[in-house]
Amino acid sequence: MRALVALAVLLLAPVASAEFGRYDATGYPVAVDGTPTYPGGILPTGQLPEGPLNRVGPFTVYPYYPILTAEVQRLAAEHPDLVKLHSAGKSTLGLDLWMLEIADFANPDMLPLEKREVVWVDGGTHSNEYSGVWFAAHLASFLAGGYGANETATWIVENRHTWIMPLVNPDGSHAFGRLNAHGVNVNRNYPVDWGALAEDALFNNPGPHPASEVETQHNIAWFNKTRPDLYVSIHCCGNLWLYPYGVEGLDPLDQQMLSRVCDEAFPSVRDDCGPIWSTIYPASGSSVDTVYEYTGAAAFGYEMSGRGAVALWGQPFTANAIEAEEVESWTGILHGFLNVHRYGAYPELVGARVEGDEVVLRVRNEGYGNLTNTTVSTAFQPAGPAGMLVDPAILTVPLPALLPGEETEVRARIDGAGMLTLRVDYVKRHMASPTGERTFELEVREEAGGLAVFFGGEALAATSAGGAAVPFVAPAAVAVVLAALALRRPRRA
Ligand SMILES: [Zn+2]
Repeated sequence: MRALVALAVLLLAPVASAEFGRYDATGYPVAVDGTPTYPGGILPTGQLPEGPLNRVGPFTVYPYYPILTAEVQRLAAEHPDLVKLHSAGKSTLGLDLWMLEIADFANPDMLPLEKREVVWVDGGTHSNEYSGVWFAAHLASFLAGGYGANETATWIVENRHTWIMPLVNPDGSHAFGRLNAHGVNVNRNYPVDWGALAEDALFNNPGPHPASEVETQHNIAWFNKTRPDLYVSIHCCGNLWLYPYGVEGLDPLDQQMLSRVCDEAFPSVRDDCGPIWSTIYPASGSSVDTVYEYTGAAAFGYEMSGRGAVALWGQPFTANAIEAEEVESWTGILHGFLNVHRYGAYPELVGARVEGDEVVLRVRNEGYGNLTNTTVSTAFQPAGPAGMLVDPAILTVPLPALLPGEETEVRARIDGAGMLTLRVDYVKRHMASPTGERTFELEVREEAGGLAVFFGGEALAATSAGGAAVPFVAPAAVAVVLAALALRRPRRA
């Protein structure tokens, strides 16, 4: 029966069609160098290979549902303190939609999950685009296996709440095809803009109504449950990075921010990062558009390059590390993990000085998006056992809107030495209005020359009599070291 399904898929595959990538005449994705990821003729039509499906010659591959299942179960079993394996629900044919939740759960000093930026990565919505399954599974392995050994992996595990669904459409994987068991393109089935474009019925069937498919329904439920700050859905091929919208001419409210992500995360391939409709082609009902509107996430579709030879069924047929084969996407996803707190507005305390009975706090927008709808509160508690909050104990005021890189001053009343708290409440991104909150605890000390302000143990400024403020870098800032990764321009077909 499986062979018959595969035969049917192969026979039904002659229409060149694309969804987040180009397809050759057999219906298989085309790599960035123009090579079809399924080399027609290698396998007799309708026959399945013998033996373990995770091995092609000397190479280990991750395309096939039973193999992927073994891999995600291995990750959870070998790293019980780091990886929780969930089923996000059952596919149309009853297969589990595996979801890996990754964080340092057993760390007694762990940063509470609710304080973390949430990152979601999925692959295999089009299940014959196996590079994405490989990439997502490898990412999970990198984080779990690299914890404690690799500095980047360790930082991500300790500071982000990561959800990885390597294979959104396991039924399609079983059939070695692109669609789900109802013949629906899951990435045309999402509610936002559903049916807005006339698509070919064979490869881009959007389903009878929005979210008609259980794969779509389960994903939406988990979007709403996990509320990602960064959403990355991986497809293949073409080496492109796509943000909302699929509908021609429609710009997202966070277009400026998303474009800035392209600038920073994909500098060597900047022209290949942009809105779905203008960077690849118009497409309706995609997961990227729906996640963006439902959760306000910075939402991207990644097209793998498909670089490197590929094997039966489009598995990456290479012994090279995915970090090398998919260097642009790997660099981009790490940029996302390390910088997602700046994918939107991001208020940072960048300096402070004492002026009379006030501390003047400098707040700068270090995010990629505009800082708007912001309020700041300050509270001061004098030193000493009888310390009480100074009147006004808490002052809440609106902050003027700040473009990226702009700063403003906030004044807080003090009364000698003590502790000063600055709290900033803001809107991170502008679709679905996800909110952010940052709190800074400063110490005002008596020094030889007068009062001085300290943050994280470091002096911020001279006293009221002493003059200019001393610039400083907030210790919370995350150093991004990606320059060491050699970027190279991909070949284009
Ligand atoms: Zn795709």
